[in-house]
Amino acid sequence: MAQVATHCPYCALQCGMTLRQAAGGRVDVGTRDFPTNRGGLCQKGWTAAELLDHPDRLRTPLLHGEPVAWPVALDFVTGRIRELQAAHGRDAVAVFGGGGLTNEKAYALGKFARAVLGTRYVDYNGRFCMSSAAAAGIRAFGIDRGLPFPLADLGRADTLLLVGANVAETMPPLGRYLTEQTEHGTLIVIDPRRTETARRATLHLQPTPGTDLAIALGLLHIAVAEGYVDRPYVAARTTGWDEVAKVAAAWWPARVERLSGVPAEDLYAAVHALGRAERAIIVTGRGAEQHAKGTDTVSAFINLALALGLPGRPGSGYGCLTGQGNGQGGREHGQKADQLPGYRRIDDPAARAHLMALWGVPDLPGAGVSAVELIDRLGTADGPKALLVFGANPVVSAPRASRVARRLRALDLLVVADFFRSETAALADVVLPTAQWAEEDGTMTNLEGRVLRRRALREPPPGVATDLAVLAGLSARLGYGGRFDAEPRAVFEELRRASAGAPADYAGVTWERIDAQDGVFWPCPGEDHPGSPRLFSDSFPTPDGRARFVPVDHRPPVEEPGPGFPLYLTTGRVLAQYQSGTQTRRVASLAATAPAPFVELHPDVAALLSIVDGEPVRVVSRRGAAVLAARVVDTIRPDTLFAPFHWPGINALTNDALDPTSRMPEFKVCAARVEKLT
Ligand code: SF4
Repeated sequence: MAQVATHCPYCALQCGMTLRQAAGGRVDVGTRDFPTNRGGLCQKGWTAAELLDHPDRLRTPLLHGEPVAWPVALDFVTGRIRELQAAHGRDAVAVFGGGGLTNEKAYALGKFARAVLGTRYVDYNGRFCMSSAAAAGIRAFGIDRGLPFPLADLGRADTLLLVGANVAETMPPLGRYLTEQTEHGTLIVIDPRRTETARRATLHLQPTPGTDLAIALGLLHIAVAEGYVDRPYVAARTTGWDEVAKVAAAWWPARVERLSGVPAEDLYAAVHALGRAERAIIVTGRGAEQHAKGTDTVSAFINLALALGLPGRPGSGYGCLTGQGNGQGGREHGQKADQLPGYRRIDDPAARAHLMALWGVPDLPGAGVSAVELIDRLGTADGPKALLVFGANPVVSAPRASRVARRLRALDLLVVADFFRSETAALADVVLPTAQWAEEDGTMTNLEGRVLRRRALREPPPGVATDLAVLAGLSARLGYGGRFDAEPRAVFEELRRASAGAPADYAGVTWERIDAQDGVFWPCPGEDHPGSPRLFSDSFPTPDGRARFVPVDHRPPVEEPGPGFPLYLTTGRVLAQYQSGTQTRRVASLAATAPAPFVELHPDVAALLSIVDGEPVRVVSRRGAAVLAARVVDTIRPDTLFAPFHWPGINALTNDALDPTSRMPEFKVCAARVEKLT
């Protein structure tokens, strides 16, 4: 019986699992003792193999909905690309990737866009996920690695502050670290909902949506007033404290309480727990980050961590929880509009020269635009006329969804590579059926910056190709003269050379070392380098070796409740679904657990509108409406609605206002109302 040790296809925890080819062709999932999940899996991981032979699986390319042979599909795509680029220039074709793609695929996709197509238009759905934390991490520390320490440190922290992260639902095996941590320490959760994670907290701060930044400023204000600022650390290891202290001085606890609804005494309790702890960790999640001020909010929590002297102190620090399976590696190797592999900047002449030499091209395009801005330009007079999508479903996952579908329909050519006919694939001229995780080798980089091996159990079914083979086939047809491998190991070897000397340096990572060491943490500049599980112990990767305080101030959400839209709407996740649901909505047991979208509302709101639990209601924002089942719960603030975004329709409501730095849309807060239908 064939068996491989691999990792779950879904979230960034990348739980270790075993896959076995059982009798009758069934694939069984088994546990495996890996350092992050220690044998644990959630429902999604347990059921992941059910999709391998799912009846909805695409098994042949589709051209305008009709099955065609692979050469016909690829010839059609490349023929249209040539025509459109001849008529409108290189930027007539755009590429959209995903945070679930392996490192090899993310690298190959960026190379395909820049070296083969020569387009500046490439970005990916990680823009909706990690971009605010990434931007804040780079401006403070000079590097973006989600957790700059191993996950196990969370369990040992005397105080752990989770901001907008519901790990009990999104990453259940991580819950064992919370159990460890709460056995001896203080867990503080900031979330407008009393989530499963918040229920486990020693202290739950339940703020008005959109006020996390003010809370961070208030916590820093109290830390100064109560004498918790680590002055020697601030003097020796940071720059910019005075400006940040000035902003925090204006955020006295009563002011923060008035704005956020969080009692001042709770703010004091949080600061005392953080300030007195020998080991304290502050972690942000999407709840703090998916805002038009997400970067500044993360910066405010990093400022607090720096003031307390946490980053680089053993067992302490700041980190963010990456969401998508390869959200970390996917953002390091060239899918982002302004970055080249290894986290090199595309406007850095030395970085460009390095990649031009490696890829054998005389020039590279400049920076493109972020995902939402790219979608906005599709099919416009000056925008791209064609889009190739790999591993993403923006019709469901992007904000203001009705606009997304409209822009995709305006294209001359939409190509989607996926293993199911997602809502985006349903609009495509060409659909290319691609391999699933158990049918391909490669590497993923988890939320700790640990590079892992994905191992194939079996070949893709007949008629199905790997994403790498698709990209290599398109490249050959488009006349790319350089090397474009379809073999993941060869691509990884090239990625090592591409990232050598860069911030996300994989030069010393080999598949053999990953096998031998349960993964290798980047940066790892040479094969004799041990890898970097913990960062910042001696210095920060900034020009002067110091971390940078960044002065940021609170500002309100882009939309506040008012006449016609009296409530806040916030969005999030549930345990039994993942991202846009293309996969998990097709798993019977997951669909049974979470069969349909819903909206949570407080009993006071329900009573006011005579809404009873379970009845369908209409939720309306300035951009659209959705009919959802009402869930009347006292775990949410009376001024707030919550809806999970895994189904079509929810993102018809959300606001596409962007963070000025990260270009993250404001998924987490908009103004809305709820209406009784009958
Ligand atoms: Fe998979 Fe994430 Fe669940 Fe682990 S927590 S089994 S990686 S979805």
